[in-house]
Amino acid sequence: MSSFNRLLMSLLLIVAVGVSYGDTTKNLLEELTNAHGPSGFEGPVREIMQREMAPLADRVEIDGLGSLIGVIEVSKDAPNIMIAAHMDEVGMMVKRITDDGYLKYQVLGGMLPQALINQRFRVLTKKGYVTAVSGLKSIHVIPRGSRDLKLDHNNIFLDVGASSREDAQKRLGIQAGDPIAPDTEFEVLNGSSLYLGKAWDDRLGLAAMIEVMKRLQNKRPKANVYFAATTQEEIGLRGARTSSYLINPDVGISLEAGVASDHPGITKDEAQEVLGKGPGLFLFDASMIPNENLKQSVINLASKKKIPLQFNLQPGYGEDGAEMQKAFTGTPSVNMTVPVRYLHTHYGVIDRNDFDHLVDLLTALVYDLTPVKIKKIKQF
Ligand SMILES: [Zn+2]
Repeated sequence: MSSFNRLLMSLLLIVAVGVSYGDTTKNLLEELTNAHGPSGFEGPVREIMQREMAPLADRVEIDGLGSLIGVIEVSKDAPNIMIAAHMDEVGMMVKRITDDGYLKYQVLGGMLPQALINQRFRVLTKKGYVTAVSGLKSIHVIPRGSRDLKLDHNNIFLDVGASSREDAQKRLGIQAGDPIAPDTEFEVLNGSSLYLGKAWDDRLGLAAMIEVMKRLQNKRPKANVYFAATTQEEIGLRGARTSSYLINPDVGISLEAGVASDHPGITKDEAQEVLGKGPGLFLFDASMIPNENLKQSVINLASKKKIPLQFNLQPGYGEDGAEMQKAFTGTPSVNMTVPVRYLHTHYGVIDRNDFDHLVDLLTALVYDLTPVKIKKIKQF
């Protein structure tokens, strides 16, 4: 081979490697959002988090409710920063199989019945997954004037193509108690910086934790950092409670999916975050008022580092920060977000730039939280 050919070959090899590995952050977001893990059934997500955390943490622990905790421990005497994001997504559970083989369900988390109509799902049976579709009565049989259908979960059903209850049980392996997850594949939205997928709530928080852990490899922080991938958030912040007791945090940072208000039919009184204007900081939600000192530190740091930051107040929203805040004798806590359109549906949309800015801000915050600073934050 001539030296020119050799050069050409190495260039081609670099391009090929670049194409196959590409953007590792995007790949991680894609893998996490595609994984199925309704509340209480977080196994597939936990496997990804275990694989990602293991090489980046000093140790990985697991609590009694299945939350996975990657620890960067600088000293036994140093204060503990707890960063939490939840592994579970909103979904359902098989309640019963009708005589003719349709499935009725129990919801796991808050979902509008309207969001569940005429969608694809996966029933996660012990034998593997089964495709299901939520049926909707045909327009042909509904008289004009009564097409304003009133939907509730009790009159929605899933069709798995079974001919009877026995067929659903024996051939498809479906049992009462099996989890059901939305069936949506990740997609970059038409070449934009927007990503389409299910379960951004809260897989984006998990991906942000991994990205921050990668950045912390360059320089050790001054406090211990506990990255908690929690379980069962959507049904009452349950994993965050137990992992807070395992960690005993001095500072709590919840990473979440924010509610974006930049689409038709939503008002600024309902939500304030928008896509593309940076991560969000919650000022109020149904479960928590953030600690004033910690909140101010985040605001000052964002301004110093020139990282865009938005605010949100959500009276109909709860998050893991509330459990960190109330553990033991109380912990200064905040909730930081990436804005998401159409939260708790099959198709959420986020802006990759907001995600990257959250990682920047969170990394800066971890380094900023020295023992002296944490001591100050804990004073009233
Ligand atoms: Zn969430």
